Amino acid sequence: MQTFALQTKLCFGENALDALSSLQAQRVLIVTDRFFAENGIAEQIGKRCGCEFRIFSEVQPDPALTLIAQGVQVMQDFSPDTLIALGGGSAIDCAKGMLSMSDKDACLIAVPTSSGTGSEVTSFAILSHDGVKHPLVNDALRPRMAILDASLLQKLPKSLIADAGMDVLAHCIEAVAAKNASPFSEAFAVCAFRKALELLPKSYRGDSSVRETVHCAATMAGVAFDSAGLGACHALSHAIGGTFHLAHGRINGILLPHIITLNAPACTPSYNGLAGMCGLSGIAGLRLAIMRVRKQLELPATLHEAGLERNAVLREAEAISEAAVNDPCTLTNPRPVTKSDYLALLRSAL
Ligand SMILES: [Zn+2]
Repeated sequence: MQTFALQTKLCFGENALDALSSLQAQRVLIVTDRFFAENGIAEQIGKRCGCEFRIFSEVQPDPALTLIAQGVQVMQDFSPDTLIALGGGSAIDCAKGMLSMSDKDACLIAVPTSSGTGSEVTSFAILSHDGVKHPLVNDALRPRMAILDASLLQKLPKSLIADAGMDVLAHCIEAVAAKNASPFSEAFAVCAFRKALELLPKSYRGDSSVRETVHCAATMAGVAFDSAGLGACHALSHAIGGTFHLAHGRINGILLPHIITLNAPACTPSYNGLAGMCGLSGIAGLRLAIMRVRKQLELPATLHEAGLERNAVLREAEAISEAAVNDPCTLTNPRPVTKSDYLALLRSAL
């Protein structure tokens, strides 16, 4: 038996942030970074809730367990009934980490300000400790509500549009072929892929009118992979990112064409279906489309182009491959992947 559930209420369109005024929360803790604390947006979000609120603005990229512990302490002191995660995937994952480590229960609301991780609708969070990324997967981590407000996307830096956008494409490609894929997850993944592939270059070039659609596509991709699972691209990307601190989406963009080649024999109908629904000619067309959009987004094609020294990667290759094999995303890849497969993938991505 398979199941598919949409557990997060999505608020989107014009004035989506108005949803905050009907929360009926008593005590709200806003989990965000310095940027949103200093530009006043966190304060505005708190005021819209119409209740007592506090701002925890210490979120850093790749949230570490020490940061989570700091946040849990704030939860102990303030006793919020609602957490509002305001920011990119790191803010949302930090709030999820706080909820899972605290003995206090609170409702989680996600207000994503970048279009990529899909964390606003998933049961996944990525936390780091001592240079290793640890994926948390727990149904209780799915936000109760996600607010997709385009007004927060107007000043996105170009590099964030590119990195996060490539992550969306990776979520779609992995979700259509993953072990738990279903017609329902496929519908979300295909639609998100088609929109993101078409609109990301426009958004990157500065056309802010398409950003709301890309934002919704990122969330749709999150719905798809939350149900279907991910695969070897994310497993290896988590392992590389834990060691070298490169942007997650940037690594995915380097790995994706190699992953498509590796997995194609095990999921030809899924890849062909995705390609066909996007007007691409088969699996070769899918690979070419990824390489084309990667170029349009001015993203690197190899780890070396991304600034990593080949010898440094090779020195860590064994440990990275071992971490990838043990990553939960390996379990839902369409074909079994061994440590030597990951070593070969890593060498082809150099
Ligand atoms: Zn991802």
